[in-house]
Amino acid sequence: MKTYQIAALAGDGIGPEVMREAIQVLRGVEKAFGLSFAITEAPVGWAGIDAAGKALPDETLALCKRSDSILFGSVGLPDRDPTIPKEERPERAALLRIRKEFGLFANLRPVQLPKALAHACPLRPERQGDGIDLLVVRELTGGMYFGQPKKTETVSEGVQRAIDTMVYTTPEIERIAHVGFKAARLRRKKLTSIDKANVLENGILWREVVTRVGKEYPDVTLEHMFVDNGAMQLMLKPTQFDVMLCENMFGDILSDEAAALAGSLGMLPSASLGVTAGDQTFGFYEPAGGTAPDIAGKNLANPIAQILSCALMLRFSFGLKDASAAIERAVSVAIDSGLRTGDIYNPLDPKAIKTGTREMGAAITAAVRR
Ligand code: NAD
Repeated sequence: MKTYQIAALAGDGIGPEVMREAIQVLRGVEKAFGLSFAITEAPVGWAGIDAAGKALPDETLALCKRSDSILFGSVGLPDRDPTIPKEERPERAALLRIRKEFGLFANLRPVQLPKALAHACPLRPERQGDGIDLLVVRELTGGMYFGQPKKTETVSEGVQRAIDTMVYTTPEIERIAHVGFKAARLRRKKLTSIDKANVLENGILWREVVTRVGKEYPDVTLEHMFVDNGAMQLMLKPTQFDVMLCENMFGDILSDEAAALAGSLGMLPSASLGVTAGDQTFGFYEPAGGTAPDIAGKNLANPIAQILSCALMLRFSFGLKDASAAIERAVSVAIDSGLRTGDIYNPLDPKAIKTGTREMGAAITAAVRR
């Protein structure tokens, strides 16, 4: 039997609390599905600085390199971050370093709003249809954030000019398009490619390449949408989307807009994928939210984002579709039973039972079964 090697880096704030529940759920999945996970925990972020003087200690990085994937909590503490130079701070020294080290070029952010949590969504119920369920696939290493030249220069006295450059090559667009189409195949088989082909050269190339790659996926319906319309449609009719494929900056913005639809950061997992070797894709899985210092250590954090990150890991890195679906089902069971952490609690809902991190994790673990 294959043993999957998982590096579990809980980090700071609520990280350790939600990671503990996620690991319990993985243990439940192991039992229910006869799988074997070797989960090794290591410090990162301020926990890394306190343990070994660095946000990403050498031993932690070495563990990640030996592993099949990384399950990450979150890092950074606003009270402590300003006490050290910017480049040593956890988000830069750990998160960005890991992204670079492992060539994580694709970011996947599913947004799901179950019917039972309709109150948490800022949209009126009639705009939510039978529940919102979409996936933003964002290119993570190219485009405007990294293109050169990137500088601010003085043009004349008192006048400065800032330059950012949007650059994409055909292979960069092809590889993210393949990720998008493959993800759509695992879902409702529709892909909306987002661009600004009416204004940007990058948009024209993006549209051409995505259309060409799409021919390899005849079972997936492809449509193109300008980014401004995409932003509007997310508010008007989010249920029309299955997979939204975006370049880096558009994806950054639209994934946060889409995230708002789910009502709480505590519900949102994310995956960052690197290259595929054989049948396995190296991936980095984390909740979309941060360390939530305001609620850390109080048994108040919602562990669902971290637990759903495990489901993404099983699906995208290990190809364990059934086990992944079992985790998602178990989360639905817990929600349907009325359990709510504070961030998703609605005092007007007579069936809602306010619960803590531990209790929510235990209920989901108990519900994981074949
Ligand atoms: P945050 O996401 O930590 O918190 C924003 C709000 O969402 C808070 O009210 C928090 O209580 C709530 N929240 C977040 N996750 C929750 C959960 N699981 N359950 C219930 N409520 C939850 O953002 P912030 O306050 O801007 O940042 C706090 C720290 O986290 C900062 O140091 C920031 O740099 C860091 N951060 C790290 C990451 C990461 O590691 N990927 C991402 C974002 C922020």
